[in-house]
Amino acid sequence: MTDSSAPVGTPRPPRRIVVAYDGSAPSDRAVRFALDWFERSQSEVWIVHAASPPRIVAEPRTEEEQGSEVSAIEQELRAVQSRADPSGARVHVRVREGAPPAVILATADEVKADLIVVGTRGLRGASRLLLGSVSSEVLVRSKHPVTVVP
Ligand code: ATP
Ligand code: MG
Repeated sequence: MTDSSAPVGTPRPPRRIVVAYDGSAPSDRAVRFALDWFERSQSEVWIVHAASPPRIVAEPRTEEEQGSEVSAIEQELRAVQSRADPSGARVHVRVREGAPPAVILATADEVKADLIVVGTRGLRGASRLLLGSVSSEVLVRSKHPVTVVP
């Protein structure tokens, strides 16, 4: 029998955490927040970055330029990963092309996340807005609980 006075879904420490990283200070703090859970409770953490698809411009960038842009952030994340977890087994890094909310939510579905962590704002950081568009869309569309880190 269930205790009818207990709130539905009483929180437990999250075990499977997806954290969204765009290189901004708030997303850095979001990663630190998630890794703190990892260290305390041996949760599994996926750090996700959505890379923008190559744009068609008058002077297209070379494949090498596009590749180096992706790998710079990926290298940064690999360094975070190896510091957090030398075995690399429980902190994962993902760089996927696509719209950030879609990439974040698809990863959360795929790994059956019990928590998504995003920063309040990101690289643009327009202070007249309460939340960035990515954090807003993740909050509104997510089927998973979301924590927003300032
Ligand atoms: P804008 O809506 O103009 O982009 P912003 O850049 O200030 O404003 P968001 O992009 O919504 O705000 O950033 C909020 C949070 O969303 C970031 O701290 C990060 O956690 C996540 N995020 C944003 N962009 C990405 C991305 N490309 N990949 C992964 N996570 C992202
Ligand atoms: Mg942004």
